[in-house]
Amino acid sequence: MKNGVIVVGAGLAGMMAAIAAADEGAEVTLVDRGAIGLGTNTAMSNAVFAGVSDSYGVQEYVRETMEIGRFLNNRKKVETAAEKSREAVALLKSLGVPVGLVGTLYQVRSPDPRVISGVTLVRRVAEAIGSRPSIRVIRDLYVTGIVKRDGVVEGIEGVDSRGGSIVCRADAVVLATGGAGAMYLRNDNQKYIMGQGYHLAAAVGLPLLDMEFVQFFPVVVSGEGLPATIVYPPVHEAIRLVNSAGEDLAVKYGLGSLTDAVMKKRDELSIELYRETRKGTVFLDCRKVPGEAWNEHPLSILKLIKHDFATRPLPVAPAVHFMMGGVMTDDTCRSGLPGLFACGEVTWGLHGANRRGGNALMECAVFGTLAGRNAARFNEGGPKGVKMETVKPGTGGTVAPGGSRRSLGDIKGEIRQMAWDYAGVIRSAEGLTKGLEAAREVHRELDGFVPGSRRETCAKGDLTAAVVTLKAILTASLARRESRGSFFRDDHPGEDDAGWKKNSSLTYDPVERAFAVTHVAV
Ligand SMILES: Cc1cc2nc3c(=O)[nH]c(=O)nc-3n(C[C@H](O)[C@H](O)[C@H](O)COP(=O)(O)OP(=O)(O)OC[C@H]3O[C@@H](n4cnc5c(N)ncnc54)[C@H](O)[C@@H]3O)c2cc1C
Repeated sequence: MKNGVIVVGAGLAGMMAAIAAADEGAEVTLVDRGAIGLGTNTAMSNAVFAGVSDSYGVQEYVRETMEIGRFLNNRKKVETAAEKSREAVALLKSLGVPVGLVGTLYQVRSPDPRVISGVTLVRRVAEAIGSRPSIRVIRDLYVTGIVKRDGVVEGIEGVDSRGGSIVCRADAVVLATGGAGAMYLRNDNQKYIMGQGYHLAAAVGLPLLDMEFVQFFPVVVSGEGLPATIVYPPVHEAIRLVNSAGEDLAVKYGLGSLTDAVMKKRDELSIELYRETRKGTVFLDCRKVPGEAWNEHPLSILKLIKHDFATRPLPVAPAVHFMMGGVMTDDTCRSGLPGLFACGEVTWGLHGANRRGGNALMECAVFGTLAGRNAARFNEGGPKGVKMETVKPGTGGTVAPGGSRRSLGDIKGEIRQMAWDYAGVIRSAEGLTKGLEAAREVHRELDGFVPGSRRETCAKGDLTAAVVTLKAILTASLARRESRGSFFRDDHPGEDDAGWKKNSSLTYDPVERAFAVTHVAV
């Protein structure tokens, strides 16, 4: 019998974990609610990786990552990422990923410039998964809980493609469920990324750290009827960002090149742009971009939007992009529950108060591999392999009428609006307090909803995860009385190192359905 590892989530972090665990000799089951790789934020990404190279050293990487994270980063994780980044890039190349250096960053290049680089990345890694017989892939499995016994992880429970309840047991579980951006009204994430992993971890008593730090991407399409796609960097030098009065905003705010601001000063640029959008529309003016440049990446992707770039500036505004906080793990990806490992966006630590561009995917590559390797070596009392059991078969159809005054679609709309209004770019004690009250109300209403189908079970799970994650963000935001990195409080606008150079730690009380917050000096 081999050690059994279940990996939850098939983005880059989960796929790297599955490969590493299989290469370490484990029997691996990789589960996702959808098709492998497709519903992930990894697939949407620009596939830029920050990391060490001949022209960019370990010290420089550590210094810059910590500076951008305003020194709340977990230094051990930053050093691990720096030291293992070259190895991670070499591993990706060995899996067939076309990744190479562009300046000081690594970038995946799609053979066809009209294909998002992240899609090429997931396709190649998914092929590597397909070529490993010791990895079993289960799609359409929605994970609803982490199962533990005697203080050790035992497996997961979930809902299969026909609505049946399953339990899957193994020696170790890797949580790689991504972030939560889609719980916000304005976001650039995949539509189901709503904090499921934070909820799963909090429900088994694991602490969530630094949840107040939500990153906004400054330049995301906002025009009526247009998709909320990000303007992938690098930004062509002929492009200007202007307000409705025609002012050049990079000049107005002394931001230097737009590419640098987008990669390294997302926090400052997002706050200024958000303020500008409160006064009027902000535009990306691409009218001076020469015709041939539109065939090259990344303009080749922007061009896919139905908009006449030659004659009309494109409306843009900040949108939620990434979660810096998450499940507490150490630099070997162990969580506080023996046998449960976590990696990727669902975890805390590498980024501190703000993330530098390219560090999310490097986090997935480095820590996904570590999580898989360490999970493969974990067992309590001898290897058990992976065993899946159907507890209650599904019918594949509607089994009972839903029972709420409002539809789940309406409730979702309200949660997304609340998140944007109360836990958005600019926060205040008044808004955060109102937000918490509103979140409690919606949580109560959701509890009363009886799902009538598999689809509704998953939708209720998503919305419950979103509202629990929102409570985490609001609680941590209310407690932090300063501004730092991506986190801006109107009523405490300055960074206060003496009082707040601390990580916040939240624990969930499932009876009160509320988080308690403490702070630990970094
Ligand atoms: C538009 C965009 C561009 C970006 N560009 C870059 C970039 O160039 N460089 C960079 O470093 N970062 C970038 N990022 C950030 C980066 O892409 C993400 O942080 C990273 O891909 C997250 O990977 P992950 O494996 O942790 O999660 P994901 O890739 O999001 O995958 C998580 C998976 O878990 C599944 N899942 C969740 N809950 C459950 C459940 N309950 N049951 C079953 N399955 C579940 C989801 O369906 C999903 O498939 C970008 C992000 C966006 C949105």
